[in-house]
Amino acid sequence: MCSERDSGSLSMLFFPFMGQGHILPTLDMAKLFAVRGVKATILTTPANAPLVQPFLARANVSGCPMISLRLIPFPSGTGLPEGCENLSSVPSLDLVFNFFDALPRLREQFDWVLRELLPDCVVTDAFFPWTYDAAAELGIPRLVFHGTSFFSLCLNDSLLRYRPLESLPADAEALVIPGLPHRIEMLRSQLPGVEWEEFFAQFRVSDSKSYGVVANSFYELEPDYARHYREVVGRRAWHIGPVALCNSDTNADGSARGYEDAIGRDDCLKWLDSKSAGSVLYVCFGSSGDFTAAQLCEMALGLEASSHPFVWVVRSDRWVPEGAFEERVRGRGLIVRGWAPQVLILSHASVGGFVTHCGWNSTLEGVSAGLPLVTWPLFAEQFCNERLIVDVLKIGVSVGVKKYTAYPEERELVEAATIKNAAVEVMGSGDEAEERRRRARELGEMARRAVEKGGSSYKDMSNLIEELMEKKKNAVQAQPLPLV
Ligand code: UDP
Repeated sequence: MCSERDSGSLSMLFFPFMGQGHILPTLDMAKLFAVRGVKATILTTPANAPLVQPFLARANVSGCPMISLRLIPFPSGTGLPEGCENLSSVPSLDLVFNFFDALPRLREQFDWVLRELLPDCVVTDAFFPWTYDAAAELGIPRLVFHGTSFFSLCLNDSLLRYRPLESLPADAEALVIPGLPHRIEMLRSQLPGVEWEEFFAQFRVSDSKSYGVVANSFYELEPDYARHYREVVGRRAWHIGPVALCNSDTNADGSARGYEDAIGRDDCLKWLDSKSAGSVLYVCFGSSGDFTAAQLCEMALGLEASSHPFVWVVRSDRWVPEGAFEERVRGRGLIVRGWAPQVLILSHASVGGFVTHCGWNSTLEGVSAGLPLVTWPLFAEQFCNERLIVDVLKIGVSVGVKKYTAYPEERELVEAATIKNAAVEVMGSGDEAEERRRRARELGEMARRAVEKGGSSYKDMSNLIEELMEKKKNAVQAQPLPLV
């Protein structure tokens, strides 16, 4: 049964892909819309509810209007273990495709929720192309959320539009990505490969039919690519980020942004308070960056040799510290085994650099904190983001990873000396390091201004809300009068 459209405030349904890197920014985004008077609903599956509920409890306490949560069951018979409803809980990489294959089976449940809520707009993940059809059948505009940079969306478009890999001589290792505002050179081995093109192409079709794209970015960060995406790729887009900055009012800890923290917020702050300004290197590889024991040992030795204080988030339980590493770095190195309150750490004055896998949320969080970055991409669009950080923004030093792979065993070993050199370069005091730091600080200020009242992201969100309100008004006016 269809309910009637409410003619009052705007209502939006947010449906993120089930992975931390998508759920967390979607929650932030929903909060930003809610703060502007939108009735926001988050849709996810039961096993992901614990990720969402602490955030909602906090958002609602901080005086913002209610954001509600709707749950739909995850499909059964997927070949995944019971309760495996988030990409980060898929037990082996071989099952990742089972996870993706299960997603379209959420369609029927999604349809039910849509018919019941009849939102004025849905914001759904790029990985859910079928949500376009479901929304279109009810005349509801669908906005796509990719969760990545304009830069990587443009780069991906160029790869699909010009297919440079197909004409690349077999012995060529590097290619210049055609048609982009800057000369961007990448290695063939840093790209996902032609076999992935079909996977991405399916999202592109529904993207082009959708109402537009909401981007977690800000204009001043990548102006050439924000324009290129609209004018050359040809998508309507609104930039509304960095969305994680909506948490600065609550100084949110990690448990409000994902899992229970492996370290108490107060212990973490106390440790950071004991270090001098800009001296600490923060090392974290997102929600699923995993490494072999050999690589973790090199990392440990590299961090030790850099002689900077560090916070190192180690997700893997494969690692048994060699010798007396932890003893040797006691007081200087804080090792967090599990989930860290990343946004809190990055914004602390003692942190001076960030070793990142270049996931887009981490990248933006580092940029928002005004920090220079050491780039260590692993897979997905992380190698693209690395090019943005190093070549375009010039706020990063690369450790030089050459191979795109989700399998830790397939990766080349980055040696301790390389890690140490990159860390020393980013944290150092030479002219280049100072200049890098200056640029990073400037971008951090621009990020904060972008989301403040009157800033570029604030204004773009206003434009979007106004446009959707207008559309809603017209739809309500066009509704036939009820028969009495
Ligand atoms: N994150 C966190 N604590 C951790 C690891 C990650 O709070 O220990 C958060 C981080 O702040 C970011 C998100 O998880 O918001 C990771 O997203 P990103 O796009 O950087 O990487 P992904 O996990 O998608 O590879």
